[in-house]
Amino acid sequence: MTPLYIGLAVLLFALALFLLSGRQRHAAGLPGGRVIYSDTRAWGTVEKPFFDEELGLTGKPDYLVEKNGRIIPVEVKSGKTPEAPYDSHIFQLAAYCYLVHQSTGKRPPYGIIHYTGRDFAVDYTPELESALLDLVANIRIDERQAEVGRSHEEVQRCLHCGFREACDQRLG
Ligand code: SF4
Repeated sequence: MTPLYIGLAVLLFALALFLLSGRQRHAAGLPGGRVIYSDTRAWGTVEKPFFDEELGLTGKPDYLVEKNGRIIPVEVKSGKTPEAPYDSHIFQLAAYCYLVHQSTGKRPPYGIIHYTGRDFAVDYTPELESALLDLVANIRIDERQAEVGRSHEEVQRCLHCGFREACDQRLG
């Protein structure tokens, strides 16, 4: 896979996560995440992206924490702190857990999403992994289609969407 192709795959994956997460959550019953206190001094930066050839998945969490021999990925999100992690953020974190597991052989028991005002631990359960694999499979199917349909009816979501200008299915 060439670097350009990998870059395209990442971009498509990020967009597809955003588009698909609405319908996927309904089917998967994603874990909501629990509020935790985490010591940011233990967070180490990640030098190189992880890559999984089988799924064609690549990505770099913002930080990794080593705790009792386990490696925990941390994703930092700016902006408003939600009451519970957004579905797309949970899937992104799950993808990092998957990549850490494949690359190191150590399965993260959970990952951390750091919002400005609160940290959430999201358990990397077999159910979440399975939902991630289903999502990636759906993305691969959608990639072969000329057009991917909107997965929700939320005007506010479209109003705050970074793809709004380019999207012909936007609401509001
Ligand atoms: S503008 Fe709305 S429909 Fe289009 S990608 Fe964004 S959230 Fe989805």
